Amino acid sequence: MTRTLIRARLLSFLREPHGPDDTASFRYIEDGALLIDGGMIRAMGEFSQINAPDATVIDHRPHLVLPGFIDTHLHFPQTQVIASWAAELLDWLSDYTFPEETRYSDPALCAHMASAFLDRLADHGTTTAVAYASVHAASADALFAEALKRDMRLITGKVLMDRNAPDALCDTAQSGYDDSKALIARWHGKGRLSYAITPRFAITSTPDQMTAAQALAVEHPDCYIQTHLSENHAEIALSCQLYPEAVDYTDIYARYGLLGPKSLLGHAIHLSEREIGVLADAGAKPVFCPTSNLFLGSGLFDDAKLRAAGLVNAIASDIGGGTSYSMLQTLAEGYKVLQLQRQRLHPFRAFHWITRGNAMALGLEDRIGTLDAGTEADFVVLNARATPAMAQRMERATTLTEELFALQVMGDDRAIEQTYVAGQPRKAG
Ligand SMILES: [Zn+2]
Repeated sequence: MTRTLIRARLLSFLREPHGPDDTASFRYIEDGALLIDGGMIRAMGEFSQINAPDATVIDHRPHLVLPGFIDTHLHFPQTQVIASWAAELLDWLSDYTFPEETRYSDPALCAHMASAFLDRLADHGTTTAVAYASVHAASADALFAEALKRDMRLITGKVLMDRNAPDALCDTAQSGYDDSKALIARWHGKGRLSYAITPRFAITSTPDQMTAAQALAVEHPDCYIQTHLSENHAEIALSCQLYPEAVDYTDIYARYGLLGPKSLLGHAIHLSEREIGVLADAGAKPVFCPTSNLFLGSGLFDDAKLRAAGLVNAIASDIGGGTSYSMLQTLAEGYKVLQLQRQRLHPFRAFHWITRGNAMALGLEDRIGTLDAGTEADFVVLNARATPAMAQRMERATTLTEELFALQVMGDDRAIEQTYVAGQPRKAG
């Protein structure tokens, strides 16, 4: 296999930036190069310093190369219910999302949509995704198979749901357990794939199913766990009604052993001090989904409060409650959600968050999320002048900070010049 040398401006974070002046938190190389071989980054440095005469040079100057974006929460079977008109979360689920997810019982549809889904992610610069499949094992099979074909790092799992949903979308505690177990055996650890045990949320799982999810978590401690927590008030009230013995929503998951460092909790908006303490003690990871939270009117994620309690927050698109696949647009809306709470999201922290920060939340920062030698060759090529409006804005930009902020606020898939997954260009559109 021939080696490739990617020439561009390079930006990669060494640690989380403390603020706008923390230039020691990243490495920025004006005329940089990445040496790619066998899907891995073998060297990162000044173009003039990397000696690889045999390598094929791909010159992306004057564009900016960053690690590939990591989306830590989205739904594979919801790409065709983005932008569905609904009052709020529970109506949106019953009116649009559940009917749509019933279609994913068809393996042929799943295979077709898996390819389209991963194409859309690549178009938007996302190289790693943590996705919910539908309740059907076939949907997880299709997504894993397509990701394996592309050598993409992907975490997914079939949703567990055995009540409060249409019959066609319900498994049972036993069948959900059996299907998950078979999927783990088939896919977990194969290529760059990992399994996430996926009880959708407390409302759609009986106590028996939660016990089954707990058994899966105990038997497969290296799998992730993903679910939803405290997205909106009606959801919280119904959850607590269904689990009257729990002191609050978080306690439901705690009682079934579902909170730990590998637990990703979508939304985590309306939490008491007690719940925040429980999550922090468990090392669980709240996931901020700004476009979804605004679209469904769910509430404002209190990033500063959770961080002050010691939590590591992830950030995600939450397609299809979320409205954009773009992690740049996710940052743009995230910035505004935090502005409403007088919290500031500086571009250094923002770009750290969707790269190394989300990798840290997944415990994968030694493999993805940076451009370090020895990590997987997932990276994006960004063009801050991609649209006439961006180009006009950039005429007056003189610093890297200004360029990043323009990308963060104005950027979307048009700003993604190319996306490399395991060293291969993957942008379709
Ligand atoms: Zn979600």
